[in-house]
Amino acid sequence: MKNNYKLNDLVEMKKNHACGTNKWQITRMGVDIKIKCVNCNREIMMDRLEFEKKLKKVLGGQDE
Ligand SMILES: [Zn+2]
Repeated sequence: MKNNYKLNDLVEMKKNHACGTNKWQITRMGVDIKIKCVNCNREIMMDRLEFEKKLKKVLGGQDE
């Protein structure tokens, strides 16, 4: 599995969000990573190390 993620990619994390969805979009990539739950639009921010630890799968980019 490749953890090759980039801005706007959809990702799955190891844990579902509280709303039951496990699909997130990367909305910011810097020192910190911000991901947004595609179901409820809640955003959470974490540092890269934590993100990579919690990341399960990169689903790839969203087709425009
Ligand atoms: Zn959610």
